[in-house]
Amino acid sequence: MYGYSGKILHIDLKTKENWVEEKPEEWYKLWIGGTGMATRLCWENITPRCDPLGPENPICIANGIFTGTPVPVGGKFGLASKSPLTGFIGDSLSGSWFSIALKRAGWDGIIVHNQSDDWVYIFVDDKRVSILDAKWLLGKDTYETEEAIRNKFGDDQIRSCTLGPAGEKLVRFANVTNDGRQAGRTGHGAVWGSKKLKALSVRGTSGVRVFDPKTLMDMSFHITKEAQGKDTEKYRIIGTSTNVLAMNKIGLLPTRNYQQGVFESANLISGEFLDEHYKVKVVACAQCPIACEQMSMVRTGEFKGAMTGIEYESLFANSSNLGISDMAACIKLVDISDSCGMDSMSMGVTISWAMESYERGVLKKEDFKCAKFPEGIELNFGNGEGAVAVAEMIRDREGIGDLLAEGTRIAAKKIDEERGTNSQKWAMNIKGLECPGYDARALKTFSVGLATGTRGGCHNRSAAYDPDIKGETDRFTVDETRGEVAARSEEYAAVYDTLPLCKFIRRCFTGKADRAGAWPAIASLINATTGWDFDYDAVDAIGVRSHEMKKAFNIREGWTAADDDLPWRWKNEDFKEGASAGTHVTQEELDYLKQIYYKAKGWTAEGLIPKQHLIDLGMADVAEAIGV
Ligand code: SF4
Repeated sequence: MYGYSGKILHIDLKTKENWVEEKPEEWYKLWIGGTGMATRLCWENITPRCDPLGPENPICIANGIFTGTPVPVGGKFGLASKSPLTGFIGDSLSGSWFSIALKRAGWDGIIVHNQSDDWVYIFVDDKRVSILDAKWLLGKDTYETEEAIRNKFGDDQIRSCTLGPAGEKLVRFANVTNDGRQAGRTGHGAVWGSKKLKALSVRGTSGVRVFDPKTLMDMSFHITKEAQGKDTEKYRIIGTSTNVLAMNKIGLLPTRNYQQGVFESANLISGEFLDEHYKVKVVACAQCPIACEQMSMVRTGEFKGAMTGIEYESLFANSSNLGISDMAACIKLVDISDSCGMDSMSMGVTISWAMESYERGVLKKEDFKCAKFPEGIELNFGNGEGAVAVAEMIRDREGIGDLLAEGTRIAAKKIDEERGTNSQKWAMNIKGLECPGYDARALKTFSVGLATGTRGGCHNRSAAYDPDIKGETDRFTVDETRGEVAARSEEYAAVYDTLPLCKFIRRCFTGKADRAGAWPAIASLINATTGWDFDYDAVDAIGVRSHEMKKAFNIREGWTAADDDLPWRWKNEDFKEGASAGTHVTQEELDYLKQIYYKAKGWTAEGLIPKQHLIDLGMADVAEAIGV
């Protein structure tokens, strides 16, 4: 087989055994790689309805079809398990050198089963697998852990996925980190922590065999050249943080826990301000000619020395949404989340829930007592020092940090039960995953994409904000076309996440990001890599199948249509000012949108998948298990 080894490595942390599973080529044609293949591996290996933090929820890693080849932005892998935040599929992407090392070691995927009694790390040295004592690594942050393992073996070609202190403490939104990149969202770090797995390290020394090296090289040169042009300028020059001013202008920049869509100090937290005052360098994932990661550093003051990569989602969650106009505090917060292995979006949105709860009297100053502030914290919006202290409390599960480490859904429910309050109304999550930096009240196509999203409140899985923001749809109203738009947009995104290719390359094939512009080129790349005969329709089916797999996983875990919902605030409160004032998504609108979305997907009115639909996609076993 070209492009793949045909081998999946299984490791059992309890018995310390490992074994190899060989998959036929036809299986790879269905599942390709990335989040699609990782979800399929979850389907095959996870015990249905298991405890996400128990032994029956394995870690499933699937490499990319283009990883280790010259194809730009193809050096990525998918990571999936049942999410401890949502109870549904938790599927994430990360990129860079780890995935290349994995490919060179000869593995298309790794599945880690069961739980260890003591803290360990795994070292996959080509074909040799060792499970090693990790006690000496405990307490080290994500970067230190990776460096320590490299130093131990004296080889800087060893690449690792690591946990920081937050993962060790089972913070429910902890991340897994590799090469400075995060497999974020949905709490993979907590799953790894529950297994007492501090790191997974790989050294790979073989090459990657492709079917048609010349075609692949010629196409890759062309795409690389295009990736230096105007279509990627936004990402290369300032990065996604340019969205701050754009979102503020249309009144949808989440501000003070999504209470407002306009932040009066947006210019002080903008990508342009970051670029001028804090940027120190630009960093790229391996195999990427775009380089979008804007490394930013605080040089003076209270947060001096804080440094990390800043992109829009981390930025909104740790500045405007906390009412913070001090960019230094924002960089410090994101630095804490990245180095300690926490999802910066979920962390920021959880702190913004706590701030609103404090301002509404649900939480008190004394609730925030900690070693640093023994009298407690007046956690008003805008308190950067207080937010930093709370982030550290979450990391350490200190004081109320123990509750906040559970995420907004669990924390708000528990507080309301204990205190007879109603803070769940401002707990901004969908299915338990904290919301993104696009307020959906006035992005009505996107609102159904978010409500129905298989991993919860995630802008990366539904791209339906794009037509709303570009004006291709009327973002303030709903009509019968929106189900179709939302359905096709998530399938479009799922193609990129399954290959996987970074979506920032999407305009570099022909100048057009749509299917007609990209799918023929992607089919040619697949064929040159594998020798297959994929065409436009086969590429399109990758996204449809991958998304159905995620949905099927959720149905098996007990999903019902009631889970496809929006936060109370988005269904009940209008913005008072700005370009999106006076609108929210009514329950009637949401119910209608869900119905036309289910119809566009070819599902039943209850959102279930007909058997024949799954059989047509080559998923007969899934049809048998959950089809109707
Ligand atoms: S564009 Fe950015 S996120 Fe995408 S592969 Fe390149 S560096 Fe990584």
